Amino acid sequence: MVAPEAPPDPDALKALLRGPVFLPGSAGYEESRSLWNAMIDRRPLAVARCLGAADVIAAVKFARERDLLLCMKGGGHNIAGLAVADGALLLDLSLMRGVWVDPRARVARAQAGCLLGDVDRETQVHGLAAVLGFVSATGIAGLTLGGGFGYLTRRFGWTSDNVLGMDVVTADGRLVRASEGENPDLFWGLRGGGGNFGVVTGIDYALFDVGPEVVGGLVAWPASEAPEVLGLYRAVAEAAPAELTLVALMRMAPPAPWLPKGIHGKPIVALLACYSGDPAEGERVVAPIKAFGKPVGDILVRRPYAQLQALLDATQPKGRRYYWKSEYLPRIEPALCAKFTEHAARIASPHSAVILFQIGGALNRLPAEHSPVGNRDARYVLNVAGSWERAEDDARNTEWARAAWSDMRPFGTGGTYLNFLTEDEGHARTEAALGRSLERLSRSKAKWDPENVFRTNKNIRPA
Ligand SMILES: Cc1cc2nc3c(=O)[nH]c(=O)nc-3n(C[C@H](O)[C@H](O)[C@H](O)COP(=O)(O)OP(=O)(O)OC[C@H]3O[C@@H](n4cnc5c(N)ncnc54)[C@H](O)[C@@H]3O)c2cc1C
Repeated sequence: MVAPEAPPDPDALKALLRGPVFLPGSAGYEESRSLWNAMIDRRPLAVARCLGAADVIAAVKFARERDLLLCMKGGGHNIAGLAVADGALLLDLSLMRGVWVDPRARVARAQAGCLLGDVDRETQVHGLAAVLGFVSATGIAGLTLGGGFGYLTRRFGWTSDNVLGMDVVTADGRLVRASEGENPDLFWGLRGGGGNFGVVTGIDYALFDVGPEVVGGLVAWPASEAPEVLGLYRAVAEAAPAELTLVALMRMAPPAPWLPKGIHGKPIVALLACYSGDPAEGERVVAPIKAFGKPVGDILVRRPYAQLQALLDATQPKGRRYYWKSEYLPRIEPALCAKFTEHAARIASPHSAVILFQIGGALNRLPAEHSPVGNRDARYVLNVAGSWERAEDDARNTEWARAAWSDMRPFGTGGTYLNFLTEDEGHARTEAALGRSLERLSRSKAKWDPENVFRTNKNIRPA
């Protein structure tokens, strides 16, 4: 279908919704279509800024009746910009940010437009936390629907393993519940199959005792010490209790106040840690990291959990240009560390980084078919994260990321993370991300979205 140039019947759409409708040319339209990754610049036909499930139902029916392409946006943080499509009706859920916590049942119910920080803020009032990601401005919807990992993953599994239920508006405009007890096949598909099955309006998360204080933060050394520091990373991570999550990264030192001026702009290696159990035990566990060599900066301290969840935010601002390559790893081998260091030395921008996230633990103990996010053999995530400012530097930075990834890829499991796939990664990479789950997902897609209405994502074709 060729997209019409003007939205048909905008007044009819406005009359159907409680939230505003934005057309091209308005400030609201520009804000809604804007994404975290400035590499992506797409123009939907119109924006329906929904205020609740009723608005979502009305907008889905409106689009279906007029054969309009549909797309939906949570936090807008997807690297591939999957939330916004040219010529589509965009359902912007970013005003739906309510969070309700039931501390006795240990459940948080969050509207789908929430950012991670919204959920952390409300759950931490009760000393509880959901399993979410590392940057508080990320949307919960995209993160959860594609899997999700963060500081609590080693203890409790993927974010999607810890979802208790979702409310979903289906392709035929019905609001249905998806849980173990209701529509279990839909529930299964939603826990890793991306936004392929409908528009999620609410997510219920299981909560765990975490914080309010944890031991977390960064220790940094000059990049010349990378072989030793990465050796320490391997040793500590391998023996670490599940309460400890360790991330290794290499980049140019940012002009952050915790790093001395003399090192700004120079290459560093850093370890990011979170001990989410008893802080006194955490201090004991991270002591060998803090005592290692001669760090140039150390902010690995007791701090509020919610603060740790936002510690990296400033390094990932909206509006820069981003390009990632990523792979799951079964272990950290010394030869991989050598390549990691080599490619870090070739970084083409002061904002880029090579990162190793530790995720092994609870997720490895669940059966492969537990949820479609699968990849139960993954223990680390390699992320080659390109980040720069000017369009004229696109080629240099994307080439760096691709070269680093293809050199380190042989150390991977063969699987990759759906939520880290870039725009140019085709269906073969979606297959690599979903693996054996893809066939069952296609069958579920045929039942819940036989006409492939929800296709502006890493798409699962109906069987
Ligand atoms: C700075 C940064 C840090 C990150 N850190 C982590 C991390 O620590 N751990 C991790 O696991 N991932 C992380 N990610 C990846 C993140 O999980 C994905 O980018 C995810 O897609 C973001 O969700 P969003 O709601 O912001 O996405 P959006 O860009 O809004 O949407 C992404 C996809 O989800 C679909 N979608 C959005 N809302 C809905 C809905 N309500 N119903 C159905 N489909 C919907 C969209 O259509 C689109 O296909 C990070 C990303 C960034 C940019």
